[in-house]
Amino acid sequence: MTATAQSSDDLAPRVLAGERRALARAVTLVESTRPDHRAQATALIEALRGHGRQALRIGLSGTPGVGKSTFIEAFGMALVGAGLKVAVLAVDPSSARSGGSILGDKTRMELLSREAAAFIRPSPSATHLGGVARRTREAVALCEAAGFDVVLVETVGVGQSETVVAEICDLFVLLLSPAGGDELQGVKRGIMEMADLILVNKADGDLKPAATRTVADYAGALRLLRKRPQDPEGFPKALPVSAVTGDGIAGAWDEMQGLARWRKDHGWWDRRRAEQSAHWFEAEVREGLLARLRADPEVKAAMAEMAEQVAQGALTPDAAAAAMLGRLKG
Ligand code: GDP
Repeated sequence: MTATAQSSDDLAPRVLAGERRALARAVTLVESTRPDHRAQATALIEALRGHGRQALRIGLSGTPGVGKSTFIEAFGMALVGAGLKVAVLAVDPSSARSGGSILGDKTRMELLSREAAAFIRPSPSATHLGGVARRTREAVALCEAAGFDVVLVETVGVGQSETVVAEICDLFVLLLSPAGGDELQGVKRGIMEMADLILVNKADGDLKPAATRTVADYAGALRLLRKRPQDPEGFPKALPVSAVTGDGIAGAWDEMQGLARWRKDHGWWDRRRAEQSAHWFEAEVREGLLARLRADPEVKAAMAEMAEQVAQGALTPDAAAAAMLGRLKG
């Protein structure tokens, strides 16, 4: 047996036993882009399959400054207080690091990071979205195997990271701040449609009236969206919370649990997870094919040439793609 196989064999039982150090090492392994690490990571994830544990995976999105880390600290502490194990992971495909706070940074969740029942993992240095998606998916799987009850996946409200998070999580929570006026805060319709719960944070002190108004605006906007079959009556919902005072946090958790229970009872939970697995299978095949294309210098050169011809209008995108795929077959 090679040293490579030994190290991942050794990790699996330790992750299953809930050893934090083993979990941290396992997450480091899935984050690595080295081909030998990748093979070990795949073997490890495969070895952990079938343990039968399921966490509630909650995606949490919001723009910088909306209060994500403050909320996760308060929410996470409430869950730990209720005897639950909580993991916090981050999806950060952009250069949001340079734009301010680092997602999932432990210093942003000081109390929670000291809890034995909490595991916080900042996002790895930015790579392409596909790599981040896989790493997050595998890290979520590791946390589930390690017996975490709740896995929070934090993302900053930019680009396509929400879509990735929605395809990984069971519930999607959008955190907003109180609006100054009565207009919606330029939240893209697509993101609204993904949300199961909109939490208007900072519903305290002087901001409380604005938060109440904002909740009403979003509740109205949500009612205009098409009813989704995976929702019980009243969902998606908008609620006020204050990460600072803790007001509304317990209620938000009740709503999340109620929604999860309803979806489990009505078959939507398993169906969603099955659809997500199918989605990621296809995504991996797509990524793998593209990687293979790029790895072959001849094919890569042909790609570049065809891209140029497409740009100049000498070839249609469809014809160029068909020609490229034809080469792959050979
Ligand atoms: P993030 O960038 O989304 O993680 O936001 P932070 O959690 O770092 O919070 C940004 C700012 O908003 C900080 O100054 C927080 O103290 C403040 N903040 C966060 N939650 C609340 C809240 O519930 N009420 C009030 N008044 N301020 C808050």
